[in-house]
Amino acid sequence: MPTAASQRVIGPKIRRIAVHKPLFIIFCRDTLKRHNMKATSLPPRKSQTVIDQDFDVLIVGGGVAGLYLLYRLRGLGLSAVAFEAGSSVGGTWYWNRYPGCRCDVESLEYSYSFATDLQQEWNWPERYGTQPEILKYINHVTERFSLRRDIRFNTRITSALFSRRKVLWTLCTDRGEIFRAPYCVMATGNLSTPQTPEFPGLDRFKGDWFHTGLWPHDEVKFSGKRVGIIGTGSSGIQSIPHIAQQASHLYVFQRTANFSLPARNGPLDPEIEQRHKSEYSARRKAAFNTPFGIAGYPPPEKSALDVSNKERLQIYEQKWAEGGQISFLYSFNDLLTNKASNDTAAEFVRQKIRKTVKDPIVAELLAPKSHPIGTKRLILDTNYYETYNRNNVTLVDVSNHAIEEITPNGIRTEDCHFTVDSIVFATGFDAMTGAILDMDIGVEDGPSVRDVWEHGPTSYLGLTIAGFPNLFTITGPGSPGVKSQMILSIEQHVDFIADCLQHLRSRDLVQIEATVEAEESWVKHVKDVADSTLYPLANSWYMGVNIPGKPKVFMPYVGGVHTYKQKCDDVVANGYTGFIMSP
Ligand SMILES: Cc1cc2nc3c(=O)[nH]c(=O)nc-3n(C[C@H](O)[C@H](O)[C@H](O)COP(=O)(O)OP(=O)(O)OC[C@H]3O[C@@H](n4cnc5c(N)ncnc54)[C@H](O)[C@@H]3O)c2cc1C
Repeated sequence: MPTAASQRVIGPKIRRIAVHKPLFIIFCRDTLKRHNMKATSLPPRKSQTVIDQDFDVLIVGGGVAGLYLLYRLRGLGLSAVAFEAGSSVGGTWYWNRYPGCRCDVESLEYSYSFATDLQQEWNWPERYGTQPEILKYINHVTERFSLRRDIRFNTRITSALFSRRKVLWTLCTDRGEIFRAPYCVMATGNLSTPQTPEFPGLDRFKGDWFHTGLWPHDEVKFSGKRVGIIGTGSSGIQSIPHIAQQASHLYVFQRTANFSLPARNGPLDPEIEQRHKSEYSARRKAAFNTPFGIAGYPPPEKSALDVSNKERLQIYEQKWAEGGQISFLYSFNDLLTNKASNDTAAEFVRQKIRKTVKDPIVAELLAPKSHPIGTKRLILDTNYYETYNRNNVTLVDVSNHAIEEITPNGIRTEDCHFTVDSIVFATGFDAMTGAILDMDIGVEDGPSVRDVWEHGPTSYLGLTIAGFPNLFTITGPGSPGVKSQMILSIEQHVDFIADCLQHLRSRDLVQIEATVEAEESWVKHVKDVADSTLYPLANSWYMGVNIPGKPKVFMPYVGGVHTYKQKCDDVVANGYTGFIMSP
C-alpha cells in the first residue's frame, strides 16, 4: 500500500540502450543486473525461479484490458498468466483513489459488453461512476469469471526478450521469476505511469505528499491542513472541490488553464437505466459506428458558422445544461477541425467561467486561451469553477512565476512562498508510452522498443510494432483508445488479438509480425489525420509535451472509432494484410 514516503517510484527512467547484441545474455544481463537476477540460460541463483509451465500467452497488466484478455484466452483453451504491479485488479481504478475521482463517460456506457447477463444485472447508482463503484464492478467481474487465479499480483515485469529461433518471449519479473511463452500482450494502460515533476527540495519536505495516480488506500484527511495542489488537468479539477471542503486553505498552482464542462451528475434514473438496458445490444453495436465509441448522440450536420449567433448560443446553452463532453463537442460538425468554429465554443465556455467566478482576475486566469476547446482532454466537473468563490481557496498562477522549489514547509514560486502541510501532485502521467518504455523490451539481435521509439512511438494499428513478432499492445499509440470510450476500444483490441491467435493456431502458424511497410503507412495515416484537425495545436499529453525530453508526436488515432474498426475488420477479412505469418 503506497504511503507518502513510498510514492517516489514514479515515472519511467527513459534509458536508451544500444542494439541487443549478442543476443539474449547481454540484453538480459543489463536488466537483470539492476534487478539482481540472472539470465535464464545461466544457472539460476537460489533466489530465482524459472517458471517452466507451458503458457501460450503472457499478459502484462491486470486492469480492464488484462482481465478481458484472460477471459477470452481461456475461452479459446489457451493458457495465460497476467502480471500486475498492484496488489489487486482494476488498473486505473485501483491506483487513482483521490477524492472526487470519477469516470467522465456515463456508467451505462463505461462497462464491459461481452456478457449479456453481466450488463443486465449490474446496477450503477449514478450517471457517472465513482472510482470506488467502478473498482467494485471490476472486482465483481474478476470473481464472477474466476480470473484472479491466473493473475500474479505485486509483480512488475521489468524486461521482455523475444527469441526468433525459439519463437519465445522471456519475461523477467521484479521478484526474480522468469516466464516464457510464444506470445506476449502489453495490457499496461495508457495512463498508468504517474509523473511527478522533479522539483528541487521535495525530499526535504516535512509534510505529506501524494500523487493522484498513486493515492494511498487508507483515507487521507486534509481537515485543518493547508494544502497545495499542483496541476489543473482532469485529476486536479476533479479533486479540487473535494479537498477545498476539508482543507483550512487550498492553494491551487495552475500552469495551464483547461476547459471543463459541468457533468450534471446525479442518481441514475431507473427508467433511463431500464430503457438503456433493453436496448443494450443495439446500442453497443451502434457505438462502433461513432467517432468516440458512444452511441446515442445524433451526428451534427451543420458547421458552427452556418447558423446565426442566436441559434448557436441556444445550442451551446442546451448542451451546457445537458452535461457531458461528447454532447457538447457534437454541437456542430466542425468544432475539432475549424478554428473559427472552435473559437465560438471556446468563447462560450470562457463566458460561463467569467459568470461563475466572482473575482474577475481569477476568472480570467481560469479561462483557457492556450488551445482550442476539445484538443486537450475535455474535462467534466462538479462545482469546479464555483470552488474559487470560497474564501479558503487561492489560485496561484505559475505560468509566469514558475515553481522554483519545494521547501521543508511549503512551495516557493519565483515571487512568493506558500506554507503548506500537504502537497498533492495532480501532474498526470507519462501517457501512452510510459509503461511500455519502462520495461526493456527487445528481440535477439535486434533493436529494443526504446530504440525504435526514440523519436516517437510507431505501430501498425496501435496493436503491433514492426520488428517485434508475437507482441501485441492493447490500445497502444496509433489507435483511437484514449479518444474513445476505452472499454469499448479495449474489447475491440482484445477480440482482434484473440481472433488472431485462433487464426494462427487453426493454420498451424506460430509467428505473426507487422511489416515495416504496413507500419510506415499506418504511422503516416495517423499523422495525416491528426494534421487535418486542430488537435496538434494543443500542448497536450496526446503530444507527449508534459514530459521533459519526450518526443513531440501526436500519438492517438483521431480518425474515429468507426473508421478504425472498419480498417481492422478489413485487415482481417483480407487475410491479415500488413502482417507476415509463419509456421
Ligand atoms: C483518473 C482517470 C480517469 C479516467 N477516466 C476515464 C473515463 O472517464 N473514460 C474512459 O474511457 N477512460 C478513462 N480513463 C482511462 C482508463 O485508463 C481506461 O478507461 C481503462 O481503465 C484502461 O484499462 P487498461 O487495463 O488498459 O489499463 P490500466 O487500467 O492502466 O491498467 C494497466 C495495469 O498494468 C499494470 N502495469 C503496467 N506496467 C506494468 C508492468 N511492467 N508490470 C506489471 N504490471 C504493469 C499497472 O499497474 C495497471 O494496473 C481514465 C484514466 C484515469 C487515470
